[in-house]
Amino acid sequence: MKYLEEFRDAELVHRGLAEIERTVTRPWVIMEICGGQTHAIVRHGLDQLLPGAIELVHGPGCPVCVTPLEQVDKALAIASRPEVIFTSYGDMLRVPGSGRDLMSVRAGGGDVRVVYSPLDAVQLARENPERQVVFFAIGFETTAPANAMSVVQAQSLGLANFSLLVSHVRVPPAMEAILGGEGNRVQGFLAAGHVCAVMGYWEYPAIAERFHVPIVVTGFEPLDLVQGLLETIRLLEVGRAEVANAYRRVVSFEGNRPAQAVIQRVFESCDRAWRGIGIIADSGWRLRAEFAGFDAEQRFDVGGIQPQESPLCIAGLILQGKKKPTDCTAFGTLCTPEQPLGATMVSSEGACSAYYRYRR
Ligand code: SF4
Repeated sequence: MKYLEEFRDAELVHRGLAEIERTVTRPWVIMEICGGQTHAIVRHGLDQLLPGAIELVHGPGCPVCVTPLEQVDKALAIASRPEVIFTSYGDMLRVPGSGRDLMSVRAGGGDVRVVYSPLDAVQLARENPERQVVFFAIGFETTAPANAMSVVQAQSLGLANFSLLVSHVRVPPAMEAILGGEGNRVQGFLAAGHVCAVMGYWEYPAIAERFHVPIVVTGFEPLDLVQGLLETIRLLEVGRAEVANAYRRVVSFEGNRPAQAVIQRVFESCDRAWRGIGIIADSGWRLRAEFAGFDAEQRFDVGGIQPQESPLCIAGLILQGKKKPTDCTAFGTLCTPEQPLGATMVSSEGACSAYYRYRR
């Protein structure tokens, strides 16, 4: 397949790895932001093929992992209401809240449905005017345009029974929080190619300059990852805090302007809690006041929920690159994909899940 198979070519990957071997002269810690990249790296064993001087740490770019427990508990409370059809992407159904998950709400009689697009939820609202249809709008810049479009469409259809439970997060403020955090070890970033496909990478030069780190826009196939790493290491070795694009077949500097426009029309920036990390200033999106009628948190009374995290779970430290999944005492014993204690194990993009599948 054009633009895919050639980026899985083992010989080209090994040539890239050999070039990294020739380029690196000292230890560097590099973070891949995105959980999809983490899975590709661990699955293909790329981190084990790199020179020992290069340490990869795994970032917070997994939408399921960083959705705060409080929002999961709110989803459970809303989904349990008899008048509600609660819709979500499938990967949120097994994410544990304080006591249970959406799957168990469904087993108990709640009307919880998996959809493939928020526009499917809008259609459900049209077909069920006597019910309240709620879509769990989580994720990064990648999912925000379609979620924003669903609100625009619901408004144009005059739907009064459609709403979003919003938990949107943005990558650049998380990068700044990691780089400015106590004990930060990250010296260079692989930026998430799909996020940059939507947002471009015009926000990154200021971060690179402020924290003096190189940032390289990187794709998801093995050769993409090796090229991204090689570019990052080249910049690190010569001390250049620059932004580079190693995913040119998909990403442009300015990104997808119409997608950015619909996000800006529907959402506004806000402080947002990240699961295991805490509140990061200006790191989320919420519905603008003119769209407050589509806000499930305003439509349903879910304000007083107090979540309970497992005291064993160190997912927050993993998501900041300070620990690895194998540092967790519960990894693979008390915490497995079948019985997850934290979201980094349940999510298909979570670092704990990747280590469990490919590294045990
Ligand atoms: S192994 Fe489980 S308990 Fe440990 S950090 Fe990962 S998700 Fe949390």
